Amino acid sequence: MRLGVMGGTFDPVHIGHLVIAEEARDSFDLEKVIFIPSARPPHKGGVSFSSAEDRMEMVELAIRDNPFLEVSGIEIERKGLSFTIDTLHQLHGLYGRDSELYFITGTDAIVEIPTWKDPVELLSESRFIVATRPGYPLEELYESISLIGNGNEMIEKRIILMESPGLEVSSTSIRERISGGRPYRYLLPEAVWKYIEEKGLYA
Ligand code: ATP
Ligand code: MG
Repeated sequence: MRLGVMGGTFDPVHIGHLVIAEEARDSFDLEKVIFIPSARPPHKGGVSFSSAEDRMEMVELAIRDNPFLEVSGIEIERKGLSFTIDTLHQLHGLYGRDSELYFITGTDAIVEIPTWKDPVELLSESRFIVATRPGYPLEELYESISLIGNGNEMIEKRIILMESPGLEVSSTSIRERISGGRPYRYLLPEAVWKYIEEKGLYA
């Protein structure tokens, strides 16, 4: 079984996330892509702007019409700091050691890998699909690959670049638009827009 894993804060989820998930599913012939909202992202100082429940709900609304996308609460339920390595171990436990995991990230997130917990172990548990993201140059990506792999080609080969439609959208810019009273409706799925409006999130 080939599984895609989309980690993130999803605060809120937007079309940038959905586009790379779908692109990876198609390009790498994945059976499904599981969105895993993080509980308290260590690299974001443990803060999120909306609750874990709201972030989960928004992802559910965003993916509900796509049978190949799923959401899992494993990081939120685990409590404490969410480390990707623990999530990958847990997924291998759930889907079997033979399952092949593909962790999907944007170029900005992958350059942080050297600072994540157990980078080499991470790459033995999962391949990494790195989606191009506007505003984040690839030079840094290549630098961090050689930093992690340290000359080990087997490891370096597990980080795979994926060209994807460049969408210059981020959760930060959406939150800023909402608090500034500017339009954001078409930057995320209709159902998510409605949810944010109804609950008055990020205002
Ligand atoms: P924030 O601005 O709060 O950091 P974000 O838009 O970066 O939010 P995250 O939840 O941090 O969203 O990202 C989850 C994953 O999705 C990360 O690997 C990130 O690189 C990737 N990603 C987010 N937006 C895009 C985009 N527009 N294009 C490509 N990858 C993206
Ligand atoms: Mg981000």
